[in-house]
Amino acid sequence: MKTTSFTPFSRRNFIQTAVAAGVATFGSRAVPALADTPTTFTLADLPYAFDALEPHIDARTMEIHHGRHHNAYVNNMNSAAAGREELQGKSLCEIIADLTAVPEDIRTAVRNNGGGCVNHDLFWATMAPEGSTGEMSDALGSAIEDAFGNLESMQEQFNKAAATRFGSGWAWLIVNGDGKLQITSTPNQDNPKMKGFVPDDEYGAAILGIDVWEHAYYLHYQNRRADYIGAWWNVVNWDEVSALHAAAVAG
Ligand code: MN
Repeated sequence: MKTTSFTPFSRRNFIQTAVAAGVATFGSRAVPALADTPTTFTLADLPYAFDALEPHIDARTMEIHHGRHHNAYVNNMNSAAAGREELQGKSLCEIIADLTAVPEDIRTAVRNNGGGCVNHDLFWATMAPEGSTGEMSDALGSAIEDAFGNLESMQEQFNKAAATRFGSGWAWLIVNGDGKLQITSTPNQDNPKMKGFVPDDEYGAAILGIDVWEHAYYLHYQNRRADYIGAWWNVVNWDEVSALHAAAVAG
């Protein structure tokens, strides 16, 4: 039974620490407490054990990927956001969806690290141990048939996008501006919601994505990216992807 759902564009996955008084007093001098009221982003625990996705994704890869790579994106995002009023009170999803509102001097850092946070949150949430991957909703099944003919064709297009993404990046299943499903891919840590930073005809809400950075698979699969992609389908959490589809279609 599923009780929670990952909703990246509504959940405020940050903790904002407000200093109640609003000012800090140093001796007789009262100063604004902006530096004491940071927007702080946190690394959430994985929703399963490191070894839960074996044999398809090994425990050591998961541990390093979450604890070091994802954690570094969180720390770097916090460094970029420290003391920046423009980011106060916004979720990561809101921030990366409106990068032009981010001050220019930290925009690239936010694009890379904020994107890294959002992308990995989605990645972890849309995987589950084999045997607990749930079922595709009727609405998602119909949408796949409408857009691709059948599931196999969708997977074929998705695998191709993942395999041919040169260097580091992601392949995505998105709900596009017309409310239809579409396969896209992005370089680095870009996300399909980064309006103005992804092509207009590849803009949309990601409901499934695969990380094809080497850090996602190299320990176990070495250079065999296609084997990793093929194995990954065994751990796709269809309950979660269906929930994300419903949320994206509802707008
Ligand atoms: Mn990664």
